[in-house]
Amino acid sequence: MNPTIAGLIELQQIDDEIRTHKKQRDELATNLERLKKILTQMGASLAEKRERLRENVRWYDDKRIELQADSERINNAKTKLVAVSRTKEYQAMTKELDNLRRKYQEDEAELQRLQTVITETQAAVDAEEAKLGEIQAEVQREEATSAERLAELDRIIGSVAGKKAEIGAKLPKNIVASYERILEKRDGIAVVPAVLGGCAGCKMKVPPQTWVKIQLGKEIFQCSNCQRYLYYTVQASQASMQ
Ligand SMILES: [Zn+2]
Repeated sequence: MNPTIAGLIELQQIDDEIRTHKKQRDELATNLERLKKILTQMGASLAEKRERLRENVRWYDDKRIELQADSERINNAKTKLVAVSRTKEYQAMTKELDNLRRKYQEDEAELQRLQTVITETQAAVDAEEAKLGEIQAEVQREEATSAERLAELDRIIGSVAGKKAEIGAKLPKNIVASYERILEKRDGIAVVPAVLGGCAGCKMKVPPQTWVKIQLGKEIFQCSNCQRYLYYTVQASQASMQ
């Protein structure tokens, strides 16, 4: 095989490796982002529930003071009732006392309802706090592991890139430049096998004369459609037929 073609195949293998490592690096970063987003959302939801709890406690306190006042008004009314002698006034006072008692019962019921809401909200806040704590711990663990793995991936990518530079230095400069352009334009694939009489990248057939020459492997050929460099190997050819 033409050494330039062999070199191009090696370059492509290295770029495939770099792409795989970069993909892993991106996935790690994306996963961390996702966890942090969940944390933020949970934090916001918790803050909202805490605020609602505080509000309910304020209402509860107000209601309790109100109930205390209700009780005092009832006692005053009772005292007055004892002192009343005229029937008409007595009836009016009794009616007022009934109204006061009804208000007391309503306020008491409201107080109980608030108490239930407070208990429920408090339980929800406690549960969410526990869950948030778990996720926070998970994010911290994940961050620590990811940091190690990211450093490892960066190291590997650096070392593979060094290997690529070494191989590139042995190839004609214009070919390497063209390879890089195609790599950029064609989603990271610049060198493909020629199979079934055509380009494995875009499936475009090559003229029969060219197909014979590609199989000989002496000259460098590019696909006339996608510009990728073409090479022939028996294995790639057999694999494509299966
Ligand atoms: Zn092609």
